[in-house]
Amino acid sequence: MKKQFLTFVVLVASLGTASLVFAQQTTPPPMPPQATEFYTPVPPKVTPGAMNNQAPSDAIVLFDGSSLSGFVSAKDGSSPAPWKIENGELVVQRGTGDIQSKLAFGDAQYHVEWSAPTEIVGEGQGRGNSGFFLMGIYEVQILDSYESKTYTNGQAGSVYKQYPPLVNPLRGPGDWNYYDIIFKAPRFDKNGMLTSPATVTVLINGVLVQNNVILKGPTEYIGIPNYKAHADALPIKLQDHGNPVRFRNIWVRPL
Ligand code: MG
Repeated sequence: MKKQFLTFVVLVASLGTASLVFAQQTTPPPMPPQATEFYTPVPPKVTPGAMNNQAPSDAIVLFDGSSLSGFVSAKDGSSPAPWKIENGELVVQRGTGDIQSKLAFGDAQYHVEWSAPTEIVGEGQGRGNSGFFLMGIYEVQILDSYESKTYTNGQAGSVYKQYPPLVNPLRGPGDWNYYDIIFKAPRFDKNGMLTSPATVTVLINGVLVQNNVILKGPTEYIGIPNYKAHADALPIKLQDHGNPVRFRNIWVRPL
């Protein structure tokens, strides 16, 4: 019995050695570094904006301080956007409703700057609340949560009620914050089934706060998010939450 076992071990060991030798003989030569280097297509050259957050050369400017022509009322999607421009800044007009871009977007990079009211009114979700709604239904929260407590997955830079921001790099009321947002739209098949969820990366003032998170569906105030099939491209929405939040420099680069 012992001898048989020993024979078995020797057999297995020799087979192993044989296969090792075989593997060594058939291993291809090492790959040259050039094999993983490609030269086309060449990424188009884009002139970056200056540090004052000027839009880059290939961006679609939605708001540059001069007019609200890039937006309409979200109530009917066609009447003029009812917010005001003061000193080149777009100011939410309480009770007039959300506004939305005239153009529709799917995958895109966004830049938006906002400033919370200096006259502090309210607490938590009632202080300096607005929102940047990707495709009109996925909210990246805008809120004066600089020194005001609220639920973490509802503070500035949260994917509303889905993901709190990784850190809080906000500037205080009256100062300007900027968001850079990289969004991948969800995909649906022709039967309306979700084939790939939306993802989003968000930087506040250049600091990463959402690292390619997977959205669970539209951001809901109440209840569990659930995807419903929608168009490949939809307008972005800015929220009237009753606070005179100010905006400037809103641009987008469709991807
Ligand atoms: Mg909001």
